[in-house]
Amino acid sequence: MAPIQKECDFLVLGGGSGGLACGRRASGMHGAKTIAIENKRLGGTCVNVGCVPKKITWNAATIRETMHDAKAYGFHFEETAPFDWTGFKHKRDAYVKRLNGIYERNLNNDKVEYVHGVASFLDRSNVSVKLDDGSITNIKAKKILIATGGYPAVPPHIPGAELGINSDGFFDLETQPKKVAIVGAGYIAIEFAGMFHALGTETHLFIRQDTFLRTFDPMIQEKVVAEYERQGIHIHKRSSQSKVEDLGNGVKRLHYKDANGEGTLDIESLIWAIGRTPETEALHLDKLGGLDLNGKGHIKVDKFQNTNLDNIYALGDVCDSGFELTPVAIAAGRRLADRLFGAQAEALLEYENIPSVVFAHPEVGSIGMTEPEARKQYGDADVKVYSTSFTAMYYAMMEPEDKGPTSYKLVCVGPEEKVVGLHIMGLGSAEMLQGFGVAVRMGATKKDFDRCVAIHPTSAEELVTLK
Ligand code: FAD
Ligand code: NDP
Repeated sequence: MAPIQKECDFLVLGGGSGGLACGRRASGMHGAKTIAIENKRLGGTCVNVGCVPKKITWNAATIRETMHDAKAYGFHFEETAPFDWTGFKHKRDAYVKRLNGIYERNLNNDKVEYVHGVASFLDRSNVSVKLDDGSITNIKAKKILIATGGYPAVPPHIPGAELGINSDGFFDLETQPKKVAIVGAGYIAIEFAGMFHALGTETHLFIRQDTFLRTFDPMIQEKVVAEYERQGIHIHKRSSQSKVEDLGNGVKRLHYKDANGEGTLDIESLIWAIGRTPETEALHLDKLGGLDLNGKGHIKVDKFQNTNLDNIYALGDVCDSGFELTPVAIAAGRRLADRLFGAQAEALLEYENIPSVVFAHPEVGSIGMTEPEARKQYGDADVKVYSTSFTAMYYAMMEPEDKGPTSYKLVCVGPEEKVVGLHIMGLGSAEMLQGFGVAVRMGATKKDFDRCVAIHPTSAEELVTLK
């Protein structure tokens, strides 16, 4: 049977955060005839195996912590009530499924044609899509966006590594493991470790160095490592793994080396969280004849999301922007649609001062330069740092061993003390950062911070009263 032929102005490969945002704006707002292709579930990583189910699990973990704290406030109840992981997981899955439906309806509302299948390039203007029933649709497009995201990196060659799972597998766990090992030192490892521990799983975190979140300010690294250790998360520093064995009955044995020497650990789940790899394999990029990639396989783009090939664009996790965040993919997508179809020739996403949060326990928030980055760029003499560590009033009713830390830092430069970095850790940091992000984005100085009257009693007030 001859393939079905379709034609469009704009073809979007990948129905995740960036692809959907770009395609919907191109069609819904600017009237471009748009087709979007997705081979798994609409919404991509964020909705199905990322931000959304993660944040819901983080909420569950936070409720568990609050239940513990409640005793200090005079609530007397059985804190050891079990957590129904299986019931919770099924409810979380149902919520994600509802979102998939909403995303499909949104495409419809914006008149984007949705094709479910695997996309592969035939050449620079033609893409073939293998549909679920095995048939092929060929699509000719004037402009093509690659927004195919990424997938969890495979661990280096370790015998038995396949006995472990990755972040996708975390969301498939039907029962709560009693004991887990997590390997990695970035956002995912630290978020998962915090959630497992709060929910009562014995948690072992294997990191290669002495700290984790090493792209963050040293204050964040030091304080969060100390807090995780204080809470009782087992951090294996300077570690490596040599073998994983299946002992049967769902138990795996991890062979490792860490700062204390060699050891083995028997666990129910082993989770690799060591970064993500751009998803381009099925695309047959070779058919494009010379698309530029970086050493890690990310598609190289300029500040307008142009690749080196005319009429081929890329954004989100698949490109080399250095930011793997949903709002970054969405913002880049909307600006690109405005530029290509909305007559806004200069529309682009500025990749400076992008706020981000790690949903650790407690939360971490960061925007702008770390202190070492600022010192390197401006020199010690031009950098002034304001910081504070304190116990939030929330902990006032608690025993010393239940009090969590709060730490804030402002990195300022020049005689006007422009705030070029803001780093916060503690309860509420995630919600707090968005507003302070606006101030930093606008070029606020330390004086501007000081001129804003404090809101009392909050933790955030410390950021406008720093000395
Ligand atoms: P994706 O959302 O990955 O979408 C790409 C889509 O393309 C996928 O659906 C894929 O199936 C499809 N695709 C791939 N190849 C093909 C093909 N050949 N044909 C058809 N379709 C194809 N970010 C945040 O901002 N906040 C968070 O709290 C957060 N938490 C996260 C937690 C986890 C566990 C993970 C893994 C990520 C998290 N992220 C978070 C990152 C965020 O999910 C990604 O940055 C974002 O989803 C990237 O969007 P994207 O559009 O580039 O790619
Ligand atoms: P990250 O890139 O954040 O971190 C991975 C880290 O794991 C590396 O930096 C490295 O740290 C460590 N690592 C790498 N290889 C190994 C190894 N072989 N053994 C042990 N450790 C290793 O990746 P993640 O997978 O955590 O997350 C991917 C991206 O998804 C993030 O960068 C983030 O952009 C996004 N995300 C965002 C979230 C949010 O916004 N809250 C939440 C989750 C993900 P080191 O060099 O110190 O060893």
